Amino acid sequence: MEQNDLGVFKGQIRATPDQALSEEQLIEVVEQKLGLQKGGISWVHILKRSIDARNAPVMLQLVVEAGSEDNLKHRSLPQLDAISFPKLPDGASHVLVVGSGPAGLYAALELIRNGIKPIVVERGKMVRERRRDLAALTKDHIVNPESNYCFGEGGAGTYSDGKLYTRAKKRGHVMESLLWLVAHGADPDILVDAHPHIGTNRLPVIISKMRESIENAGGDVRFNTKLTDFNSKSGAVSGATLLNVKTGATQEIECKQIVLATGHSARDIFYLLYDKGLSLEAKEFALGVRVEHPQSFIDSRQYHGEERVNNLDEERLPAASYTLVCQIKGRGVHSFCMCPGGIIAPCATEQQEIVTNGWSPSKRNNPYANSGMVVTIDEDVWTKAGYSGPLGALEYQRSVEKACWKAAGETQRAPAQRLTDFVANRPSSGPEADCSYHPGTTFVNLHDVLPREIAEPLKKGFLEFDRKIRGFIHKDAILVAPESRTSSPVRIPRDKESLEHPDLVGLYPCGEGGGYAGGILSAAMDGRRVAAQIASIL
Ligand SMILES: Cc1cc2nc3c(=O)[nH]c(=O)nc-3n(C[C@H](O)[C@H](O)[C@H](O)COP(=O)(O)OP(=O)(O)OC[C@H]3O[C@@H](n4cnc5c(N)ncnc54)[C@H](O)[C@@H]3O)c2cc1C
Repeated sequence: MEQNDLGVFKGQIRATPDQALSEEQLIEVVEQKLGLQKGGISWVHILKRSIDARNAPVMLQLVVEAGSEDNLKHRSLPQLDAISFPKLPDGASHVLVVGSGPAGLYAALELIRNGIKPIVVERGKMVRERRRDLAALTKDHIVNPESNYCFGEGGAGTYSDGKLYTRAKKRGHVMESLLWLVAHGADPDILVDAHPHIGTNRLPVIISKMRESIENAGGDVRFNTKLTDFNSKSGAVSGATLLNVKTGATQEIECKQIVLATGHSARDIFYLLYDKGLSLEAKEFALGVRVEHPQSFIDSRQYHGEERVNNLDEERLPAASYTLVCQIKGRGVHSFCMCPGGIIAPCATEQQEIVTNGWSPSKRNNPYANSGMVVTIDEDVWTKAGYSGPLGALEYQRSVEKACWKAAGETQRAPAQRLTDFVANRPSSGPEADCSYHPGTTFVNLHDVLPREIAEPLKKGFLEFDRKIRGFIHKDAILVAPESRTSSPVRIPRDKESLEHPDLVGLYPCGEGGGYAGGILSAAMDGRRVAAQIASIL
């Protein structure tokens, strides 16, 4: 550990989960590491925390600061005061932001910081009202195409696990984007944890506060408002058509810049661009199933038998997760969006389809561990299945979602199979699966439902994963299909410098829908990037 000019020590320590829970015990660990007498240190402040579960016993790897009473005031605290979204000046120019997911919200906030008024239009409802549509989807199997797990205030991120991990290299940008979440009520621990997450129960409040920041500054946020068309003059955006999905009324709005942050599930937007003759590209994505295990099994395997207390031990040792990846005959098979202590959610955006994803509450204290298990889908796959052109991957994705809907009885029940039966290629029988997917399941043989190019690599992938996590092909493990919205099946091209669509000045594809992000944080960061680019030319 090194000591700075102010007398504060900083460096790495290893601690047991119990030691890490108590400042008193951490002080002892630091004193021992520094060879100091008892009382040599009076405080320890954790800057970074990760779990080292490679071997037993499980240890925490911490980056800490420590010191005496005299230098307590010099510990590094998050600089929240620097984050403000000031009132917009009168007559500020405006930009239309389509979509209030992480990309749209962060774009709007960044525009405000640059004195530009965002007009955010969102086809779905405010978070509070959105809940009713989620309940109708789960209980009554009714999919509202404008308000569901993917559409509505906060976008697909609102009712998610809220994992905030990104592979983005610019750590300064990552930290600042996390700070915006903390400034809107997220637990400051997300700044410390190596794999931070927020949880479905906490996200809606944070999202609402972000909207309030936009509105308090003088930005405009309109719910139940869908972009259905846009106009151009001399190759540049000139306006847009907005539909009030409640009343059916349409409105024309003038604008020179549109941030298109509509997410990967807004198929009508892809068709709109296609019909207008704007260039689009089919994009590789991944498709497969959700697999669900008892969380206690994943914990015992990943933590080498170390006990967690009734799965309610988030503070000391969080519900364990895994990342699995392998190659089967040149095709990638990997785990996706693992949700420890979570549930499998019904994420369809249209009536005649099944889509699954996962979420978990902040404490990750459900008894199930679920994860996507997906196979890479490339042009070869969708072409052989008879789909081509820029929307070929999307059409292939849609065909699998529809096949699952048909196989499970044409409601929001999902086709399911025991993992042991799937690898043995025999249908599961008996009453429906005991799993967390609340609309219910219908047992099938997923080899008869999923295309062979997905089912075969998946089966081999599971056999491989069973070698990596012994017993992964567990008697109680259930597969629920399909996991299909892993990323956008379409790329909306944009210029590397101007970030505009190459065919239309003023159209800014943004976030996951355009193919420029793969999760909450990367979508948020892309929103800021696009907004900063717009600010640089206005
Ligand atoms: C259940 C679930 C769990 C997830 N868990 C995680 C996780 O733990 N961590 C993680 O990083 N990612 C997770 N994701 C993915 C993550 O939510 C997305 O990557 C992220 O939300 C993408 O942000 P975005 O702003 O680009 O698009 P979106 O969040 O999809 O937002 C797009 C918004 O645009 C709106 N819209 C669409 N079309 C129109 C239109 N024509 N007019 C007006 N509005 C329109 C939609 O209603 C939507 O609100 C999860 C997704 C789901 C569904």
